[in-house]
Amino acid sequence: MFNLIPLAATLGDKLDTTFFGLDTAIFTFFGNMQNGFLNIVAKLFTSLGDENFIIPVAVLAVVLCCFKKTRKYGIAVISAVAIGTIITNLCLKPMVLRVRPYNTLQLSDFWAQFKSWYTSVGSLSESDYSFPSGHTTSAFEVAVALCLCLASDKKGKVAWIPPLLALGTACSRIYLMVHYPTDVIAGVLAGTFAGVCGFFISKLALHIFSKSEKLDKICFEDLFHLKIYKAFYIILAIVIIADFGFSFGKLMTESDEVKCAYNVEYDCNNKARIGEDKYPAIDGKNYCKIHWKQLTAEAEGEEQAEEETDAPAEDVTNETATLPEQTEAEQTNAAA
Ligand SMILES: [Zn+2]
Repeated sequence: MFNLIPLAATLGDKLDTTFFGLDTAIFTFFGNMQNGFLNIVAKLFTSLGDENFIIPVAVLAVVLCCFKKTRKYGIAVISAVAIGTIITNLCLKPMVLRVRPYNTLQLSDFWAQFKSWYTSVGSLSESDYSFPSGHTTSAFEVAVALCLCLASDKKGKVAWIPPLLALGTACSRIYLMVHYPTDVIAGVLAGTFAGVCGFFISKLALHIFSKSEKLDKICFEDLFHLKIYKAFYIILAIVIIADFGFSFGKLMTESDEVKCAYNVEYDCNNKARIGEDKYPAIDGKNYCKIHWKQLTAEAEGEEQAEEETDAPAEDVTNETATLPEQTEAEQTNAAA
């Protein structure tokens, strides 16, 4: 089914074939429940795990560290976000190299069915690798850290709310067809691990603070009067709601975005990086992060191969036939 992929098999390709049955069964479950109302609900939940929301939440967590009353929450959230990002974005995604389902499933018999669900839910797209789900990791790392902090403060009545919202984010990624269900399961595990670590780091940090009189005195709220302290929480709530509205609004208009120009084994449905200095157009075409890196790496390799030998072997010529020509900038670099 997936032997059409000419590149060296990655861990991601192995996951595709190993969990094909499980993934497609869960896609079918979510696909069959699609309707206009749930499409909006799913985008609301997805916004909770969006980097446009999580990054400002992490900044707010740093602010919470400044106040004695909220320090436990601040340290737990910021540590959880750091650990979750390292595990998912820096380690697992570039190691597993799993391509998104809306791309790889084009090579399977499941595509016609999948495509109708993917299109009707808005054809959303990402620009990086699929495993594990970054949105799910983000939502769970914050939610689990908050849940454990709330529970330790004997606020059990509200402690279950963050993980429940995060579960909504996890399901939304499958419902929107941007992740394989196995990506989401891995995201739940990575996020939960990061959240638990964040909570214990926070406990340890507070213990160290309590041992030192100097550290324990660091508390900016002493500078304020009590009424200003309340206003601080109101401003905090407004900032969080406004930020959430911004990331949700961005998502609702996303289907207008330009898709990656790559169409060799499949039509890449990833988001093209338009107008970003880091990912300039290649031969007038815009690509997603994955294919931009792949094409520029191969173009560089091609340059080296040409430098090393004047007469390239026949099969090398065939392989490079589909590659875009070097950009003007690259040609100038090569000449210099
Ligand atoms: Zn692409």
